[in-house]
Amino acid sequence: MKNIIFDFEYFNPKTLEEALKLLAQYGEDECKIIAGGQSLTILMKQRLLTPQYLIDIKGVAGMDYITFDEKEGLKIGALATHRAIEKDPVIKSKYSVLAEMEQNLSSVETRNWGTIGGNVAHGDTAGDPVPLLIALNAKVKMSSAKGDRVVEMEEFTTDYFETLLEHDELLSEIQVPVLPPHTGVQYTKFSQITGDHATASVGMMITLGSDKATCSDVRIALGAVSPAPMRATKAEELLKGKKIDDALLAKAGQAASEECSPDADAEVSEEYKRELVKVLVKRVGGEALARAKKA
Ligand SMILES: Cc1cc2nc3c(=O)[nH]c(=O)nc-3n(C[C@H](O)[C@H](O)[C@H](O)COP(=O)(O)OP(=O)(O)OC[C@H]3O[C@@H](n4cnc5c(N)ncnc54)[C@H](O)[C@@H]3O)c2cc1C
Repeated sequence: MKNIIFDFEYFNPKTLEEALKLLAQYGEDECKIIAGGQSLTILMKQRLLTPQYLIDIKGVAGMDYITFDEKEGLKIGALATHRAIEKDPVIKSKYSVLAEMEQNLSSVETRNWGTIGGNVAHGDTAGDPVPLLIALNAKVKMSSAKGDRVVEMEEFTTDYFETLLEHDELLSEIQVPVLPPHTGVQYTKFSQITGDHATASVGMMITLGSDKATCSDVRIALGAVSPAPMRATKAEELLKGKKIDDALLAKAGQAASEECSPDADAEVSEEYKRELVKVLVKRVGGEALARAKKA
């Protein structure tokens, strides 16, 4: 075999401004951003993607920050690696569920190199961060030479491997608000191989009222059971304003399994995925509730 990967023109900007300028110039053509390359290079080797231009943003300065402010919440630069998020002391103390999710994402090698921005921009419904970030009510900042815009995480992925990103835009930041009092969050995925992509995943955030018993707010996000990670709003409605118990969580699980739209894949059937959602929503809900009671 002559070449595993075809020829392309390679750019490695050192500033965001430079990267955005290159995107404005080449974005409309066969052009891809590369960050950690953990997902993109696989697609290029398989020739599912054959970009003419590759803009390597891994060396862009100042895009790998993780900051926290009691008002603004958590801000994560697109180039922060999975490993940096897993190990960050502020994330461990204020958003421990994010660190836990990262710990179960693939291998240390992939986490050391793969970036949160690359993961989210990849648009994979079976990825781990997006469903959890939807449960956490996160937002995504996108930047282009024309300026920035911010959208809800739940709107960002639009279909299988499709996102709201325009050709001249890159994902620059993930924003996670401060958690309200008496809030518990949990995320679990079920995979065929430990640490691998999800067969089905559930992220849930439960906020209790001042009585620490009545559910004042709930967000349920599902991964890998629809073309894009989704909110299970019918299931949420069953829990809002109620004192949550096992029976109610079982009903929410049933509702979520009916409102998702999984496709069968090489390993499991549609029915199997629906059954997983039913079981996982009940389990994850129970764990989020226990956390909310202690928060
Ligand atoms: C063996 C293996 C197992 C894995 N298992 C899991 C898993 O269990 N769960 C999981 O969630 N993920 C998993 N992944 C994916 C991993 O999380 C990657 O880190 C992630 O998908 C991509 O990050 P990256 O920085 O390497 O992106 P890249 O591969 O560089 O890019 C991915 C895509 O995003 C685009 N892109 C990258 N950065 C930006 C940006 N800032 N703005 C706009 N577009 C951008 C690229 O153009 C490309 O289309 C796995 C990967 C491997 C190799």
